[in-house]
This record gives sequence, C-alpha cells and structure tokens, in this order.
Amino acid sequence: MDNATADETAAIAERLYAVRSRIAAACLRAGRAPDDVRLLPITKTVPAHRLRAALAAGLSFFGENKVQEAKAKAEALADLPVRWSLVGHLQTNKVKEVARFAAEFQALDSLRVAEALERRLEIEDRTLDVLVQVNTSGEASKFGLAPGDVAGFARELPAFSRLRVGGLMTLAIFSAEEERVRRCFRLLAALRERLRQDGPAGLSFEALSMGMSGDFEIAVEEGATVVRVGQAIFGARPTRDACFAKSTPSPISS
Ligand SMILES: *Cc1c(COP(=O)(O)O)cnc(C)c1O
Repeated sequence: MDNATADETAAIAERLYAVRSRIAAACLRAGRAPDDVRLLPITKTVPAHRLRAALAAGLSFFGENKVQEAKAKAEALADLPVRWSLVGHLQTNKVKEVARFAAEFQALDSLRVAEALERRLEIEDRTLDVLVQVNTSGEASKFGLAPGDVAGFARELPAFSRLRVGGLMTLAIFSAEEERVRRCFRLLAALRERLRQDGPAGLSFEALSMGMSGDFEIAVEEGATVVRVGQAIFGARPTRDACFAKSTPSPISS
C-alpha cells in the first residue's frame, strides 16, 4: 500500500469508528443490540482508489445510487472481494447490469422493475436481495411507493422467485425539525408491523433500511436495521441534494 492510501485508510477508519460509536450509543438509548444494525457505506462520488482504502479499513459491501457508476467501480475493483448494493431508483433499461453484478437492490418500487429483474436474473442464474422503497415523506421529489400501496405491492412479490425480499427502505424528509424526520421512520416501522401481521406468507420484511449521515441516530432509535451512511465516512459531497432528486441532474449521471 502506498503512503497516500495508508493515510486515506487511517482517515476512513477514524470516521468509521466515530460512526459506529454513534450507532452503538443510539442502540443503547433504544435498548437495542449494536449488532442488530448493519452499516452500509454509501460510496457514490467516491473514486475507486479511495474504495481500495475503504477496503483496507475493513469495508467490503458498498452502496451506490447510480448503476453506471457502480458498474465502473465494480470493474475497477474486480480483483477484490467487494459486494455492491444499489440504493437508487432503477430504470428498466438498467436491470440487465444490476442482475449481473449487484448483491442487493434497495429501491424496488414497481412491478415493472420486479418483472424485468426477475427475467434477467433467470438468465444470469442469480438471485438478488431486495428491499421495497417507500416514500414516507410524501414529497413528490422522492421515489418509492405510497404507504397505502405497500400491502398490495407486497402481495405480488411471492411471484418473483429470484428476488429475495428482505424488508423496506426509505429516505426521510430533509428537515432540521427532528420530529418530522422521526415521523418518516416511525411510518416505515409501522408498515413493517402491518406486513408482519398480514403480509404474504413466506416473505420476510424484517429489514428497515433508514437513516443517512444526517439522521441515522434517529433512525436507529426508531428501529433501523440498516443505515446507509456516505458523507460521515467519506467526507462531504459537493452537491448533496442533486444526488437524490428525481429531476435534478446528478454530477455523475447514469
Ligand atoms: C447518498 C445516499 C445515502 C447516503 O447519504 P449521506 O448523506 O452521504 O450519508 C443514503 N441513501 C441513499 C439512497 C443515497 O442515495
């Protein structure tokens, strides 16, 4: 490892330690075990050479929101044991790639994408872990199913044998008002509760993927089993909001 990589690894390891400590503290407050929360590092806009440093810091499962960017990094790091999670909205013309290299897809919100994925996974003879994205903030700018549509959507999912459904995912509202953020996470937890009671047999919706750099402690307090953290580990991105919006072009477009 060269010096630059060693320095980068130390910097990432330090921020990672801080994030894990904050997760553990939030778990303690909520009477939960820190092991119940999986930290998914989100690496969008982080270049491949920094991901090598992240691997040296002990990370090996990365989340990306753009297929093209993820694929390019997967190819750049093909010599290393990395797994990839896609956490952003997917268009059907990109499912082919996802079916090839991704281990997980957290933003399922349409039957069209489910059908397209199932077909491609069949061809690749692979399976894919999926989470169903829910729009808990009600903002038009966000992807995901409306909360009222989740139960009906869930009933369709047993038909897709290549999709290993594991739970729900959401992005909370961006707000300085903690209560508004918390309400989004509570809504996702309540939807899981409903699915536990009358969701389709044979499928598990136990995972709750919620919380990012700005709000992961609140999410953990509300039951998150996966937190998706980018900037708190890798440093600030120049154009934060552009990475989420439906219509705003992202700096690295897919
Ligand atoms: C970018 C992104 C994150 C992480 O956001 P940070 O502010 O970097 O922690 C989480 N989830 C999704 C879907 C993202 O696109």
